[in-house]
Amino acid sequence: MDLATPRARGARSEDVRRGNLGALLRHVHVHGPTSRSRLTSELALNRSTIGDLTGELVGAGLVREEPGGPSNRLAAGGTGTGGRPSYVVLPETERVQALAIDIGVTHLSVARVGLGGQVLARRDIDHRRTTRRMRDEVRTIGKVARELLGELAPNAFCTGAGAAVPGMVRARDGMVRQVPNLGWTDVPLGQVLAEELGLPVTVGNDADLGVLAEHVRGAAVDCDDVVYLAGHSGIGAGVFTSGRPLVGNDGYAGEVGHLVVNPGGIECHCGSRGCWETEAGEERLFELAGRPAGGGLAAVREVVAAVGDGDAAAAAAIRHVATWLGTGTAGVVNVFNPEVVILGGALAEIYAAAAPTVQAAVEEAALRPPREHVRLVPPAFGLDSSLVGAAELAFAPLLSDPLLEMSRLTAS
Ligand SMILES: [Zn+2]
Repeated sequence: MDLATPRARGARSEDVRRGNLGALLRHVHVHGPTSRSRLTSELALNRSTIGDLTGELVGAGLVREEPGGPSNRLAAGGTGTGGRPSYVVLPETERVQALAIDIGVTHLSVARVGLGGQVLARRDIDHRRTTRRMRDEVRTIGKVARELLGELAPNAFCTGAGAAVPGMVRARDGMVRQVPNLGWTDVPLGQVLAEELGLPVTVGNDADLGVLAEHVRGAAVDCDDVVYLAGHSGIGAGVFTSGRPLVGNDGYAGEVGHLVVNPGGIECHCGSRGCWETEAGEERLFELAGRPAGGGLAAVREVVAAVGDGDAAAAAAIRHVATWLGTGTAGVVNVFNPEVVILGGALAEIYAAAAPTVQAAVEEAALRPPREHVRLVPPAFGLDSSLVGAAELAFAPLLSDPLLEMSRLTAS
């Protein structure tokens, strides 16, 4: 017996409807063009409900429908042979966009990303490794973002911005607590960026956003347990466990680069000694290869290329870093029992250059049961995992309650 008042029942069915609208929008955002019949089965709703929800999202300009021709039927997961043509629901990629920002130690990328996850336009700026003032960085981002948003068609809009930073971000308010490699401590990046851009801004850790992108639409789709290692100067981990992001009490989980692997070893910028990133990070590679510090990914590639040219110091440097990469990865495997470890940034270059050395070190140091089924893979998005993840962050409010977000946008 339902004892709720009619008003409470009405409010509840409204909640259900809004939740279903979000679920449908998220489905086409993640999976692309999808037939109505497939949506019916995937979302476990009846045909007329899917029709109503789709109509509402079409009215809001978030999706459109096209008759399911043979090619569309294949794209939408149909067999393409006979049967009644079903309408295909597509995300309005050009019309609904978000701004994705990836702030790196040696790079800055800003992109327009369409609903559906496609990078539509981007600007990339290279930096030498040195500290940068947050407000200068925000001004640069503002200039680049205005150029990108100036290219939007008259009927298109930007729902918000997401930003990735290579440091610790407080979960509850997005305060950037520490980015050692840029010299930032307790900077309200999200707030300052929101004022500069005139858009809602969400900030996240680069490795957390890397694993998000790879989990939603990259190398770890359908994997519930995955670790993404972001290797840019330092090493950070983004972790999904049992299908959920591992956040920690305040949002700082995953700082694996500061696990002490070599007690009494090299002094780390964090104040400790022998942290994993002092042995497996880029700077150690440069030092051992006799190269200047702070070269970033381009310099890592130069060292790898030098090995091919018979440079003995470069070869020894790669061996050293690859061995420590494997040893630290073994620790990650022992702690998290992941199905997949994604080696991002410079770590992908090291792995490509010396996979047997990395694997041998994992074999030696990892416990047998958790290493039995683990796969080490490069990221599906190459150097863009964090950028794509930043777009996911920006789209999150729209996907969670499309109508609420559309009414906010209309009001602003
Ligand atoms: Zn450290």
